[in-house]
Amino acid sequence: MTIEQPHSDDRVVIIGGGQAGAECAASLRMAGHRGPVTILTEEPAYPYARPPLSKAYLSGAATVEDLYIRPPATYDQQDLDIRLGSRVTAIDRVGRYVQVETGPDVPYDRLVLATGGRARRLPLPGAESAPNVHTLRGLADVDAMREQFTPGARLVVVGGGYVGLEVAAVGRKAGLQVTVLEAAPRVLARVTAAVVSGFYERVHTEHGVDVRTSCSVSGLDYGLDGRAIGVTLADGARLPADLVVVGIGLVPNTELAEAAGLPVDDGILVDEYCRTADQRILAIGDCTRHPCAQHGGFRRLESVPNATEQARVAAAVLTGAPRAYDAVPWFWSDQYDVKLQTVGLSAGHDEVVVRGSADAGRSFTVFYLKDGEVRAADVVNAPRDFMVAKKLVAARAHVSSDRLRDQATPLKPSL
Ligand SMILES: Cc1cc2nc3c(=O)[nH]c(=O)nc-3n(C[C@H](O)[C@H](O)[C@H](O)COP(=O)(O)OP(=O)(O)OC[C@H]3O[C@@H](n4cnc5c(N)ncnc54)[C@H](O)[C@@H]3O)c2cc1C
Repeated sequence: MTIEQPHSDDRVVIIGGGQAGAECAASLRMAGHRGPVTILTEEPAYPYARPPLSKAYLSGAATVEDLYIRPPATYDQQDLDIRLGSRVTAIDRVGRYVQVETGPDVPYDRLVLATGGRARRLPLPGAESAPNVHTLRGLADVDAMREQFTPGARLVVVGGGYVGLEVAAVGRKAGLQVTVLEAAPRVLARVTAAVVSGFYERVHTEHGVDVRTSCSVSGLDYGLDGRAIGVTLADGARLPADLVVVGIGLVPNTELAEAAGLPVDDGILVDEYCRTADQRILAIGDCTRHPCAQHGGFRRLESVPNATEQARVAAAVLTGAPRAYDAVPWFWSDQYDVKLQTVGLSAGHDEVVVRGSADAGRSFTVFYLKDGEVRAADVVNAPRDFMVAKKLVAARAHVSSDRLRDQATPLKPSL
């Protein structure tokens, strides 16, 4: 693709003021971009971090201010024109402007799509309108469910992924009666090895969560006031519920790009420079599918490190110093006293090696290997192992499974 050189006074418009959009705007200024930068974001809040939503914000330990990615005053200080409550409804690639639902069109020289994604809904009648059936993607979702987080309330979490399990953990700490329903034979089945799933099922069970796997929801029952009062399972069983939280994944917000004629396939397709098929339009964060530098193919990632790194790559491209995105993916999850850190992509592994014991205790590491190469690791409560695991994965190191397994042998020297 030929790149028309960007100019320092280009008008850059960013659609979406989430992790990626906010980071991109700040990085543009840091890299010396002088032209106007406009962030159009549909939410009423200044850009905030989402990870605490299912952790400290839900539990009440963090406030909205704690979540801000940057203090609101910095947008003015950096001359970033952030327009809250501004939903973009269309992109005109010929006229080079975007349409905003509640305001004037905004012209651009360069456009960055940072539209993230939305929570997948439970495809059941009434779920949308019931005031006690929630999904969790934004501040408003937590604000809506928090008052129902009362001790003794019966919380049914649909989906045993990270978000669902984090909500379950907060629920237990707040004294709710919690049931987790997972359709797959084990929790976290899509992302981890069975040993890690087993660990989390044990931890949650020990904390009093009723974890049910191979268990799908077939319906919701409602009271006369429209509130859900129970969840019906595929085997006909019925669980009473005071509130239901649905954590069954994310749908990337790709409609704007698709309507504008940009290639989309479970994410806006971009190259390693975050460029779409239109050289004036880049896309970053959860809404993209991008080339995997380590193992080929395309992937879509839903994580803060990915959003942040792609934002920086886009800013580098837009300031005339392009560098390719080749970061090794990583992610974390906090549940009770358990911190999980993962690095790399485990898909396609042919060997799983456990360092430490996942059956007892609270600290261990699981390595995923492919043809002897360390592809990924899930590290539980072992931050030092995580630092080394990051290096092993980045270096595509070959380490014998015996060595990885043996806790008496330090990981570090094997680099
Ligand atoms: C509950 C929860 C817990 C998480 N925990 C972790 C974690 O522990 N670790 C981790 O690494 N990641 C975690 N994540 C994922 C992480 O938050 C996301 O990967 C990250 O927020 C992606 O940033 P983004 O900017 O691409 O998208 P988003 O943060 O979703 O931002 C996109 C923004 O664009 C706006 N937008 C969309 N369409 C339009 C439009 N047409 N016009 C204007 N604005 C628009 C959206 O409203 C939104 O504000 C978690 C996510 C959630 C929801």
